[in-house]
Parts: sequence; structure tokens; C-alpha cells
Amino acid sequence: MSTIFEKIIAGEAQAEIVYRDELVTAFKDIHPIAPVHILIVPNKAIATVNDVAPEDEPMLGHLFTVAKQVAKEQGIAERGYRLIVNCRDDGGQEIYHLHMHLIGGRKLGPMLARRD
Ligand code: AMP
Repeated sequence: MSTIFEKIIAGEAQAEIVYRDELVTAFKDIHPIAPVHILIVPNKAIATVNDVAPEDEPMLGHLFTVAKQVAKEQGIAERGYRLIVNCRDDGGQEIYHLHMHLIGGRKLGPMLARRD
């Protein structure tokens, strides 16, 4: 089943695209949780991290080099940022098209709220 991200990549749905090449597309998250919140998405529709294959490794590494470049362009490289990939239900994944969140522009605090 195709997701909204496939439509964005195909140019069939609107998004504020900040970077695009033959392997990945990066666009602003529609509900940002920080001043910078960008999704870096493989052009190939891979549902979750569970579905990655060895031949995806060059593209998966590319997500990081694009994240680094976009972070610099967005002015958050120096102060730092967080990269997140959610997987399935317990991981909080909403859109089943693998993606990396690039989040920054404010102090993000601890990685997860502790449950004591
Ligand atoms: P995840 O929970 O990791 O699957 O993250 C999905 C993200 O996609 C959420 O942060 C949503 O705000 C974001 N999102 C959903 N629909 C759109 C859209 N049409 N354009 C941009 N971001 C979206």
C-alpha cells in the first residue's frame, strides 16, 4: 500500500522539499517538534527497518551524509541535532515508509522520558 511519502517523492503530494537526489528526498515535517524538523526519506519504498536488505546499505549510509549536509544548510550542525528512525508500533512509527528524522534548533533534552 502506498504512503503519503511515496506521493511526495513522486511529486503527487505537496511538501517543502529541502533536498533531493537519485536515492533520497528530504522535506520539512508537517508537524515539527523543534525549529528544524526534516524527514530524510529513501526514494525506494522500504516499509520499516525490518525490511532493509544488504543491497540497501549504500542508500542507508547516504541518509547520514545527506543528514549532515542538510543540518549544515539549516544552521544546526555546530550546536548539534538528533537523528531518529522509528520502527513499527512500539517504536512509534506512523508512516510505513522508512525515514530518518533530523531534529534540532533547540536543546532536545534526554533521549527518552524515563519511566520509573
Ligand atoms: P514516524 O512517526 O517516525 O512514522 O514519523 C512520521 C512523521 O511524518 C511525523 O513526524 C509526521 O508529522 C510526518 N508527516 C506525516 N504526514 C506528512 C506530510 N504530508 N508531510 C510532511 N510530514 C508528514
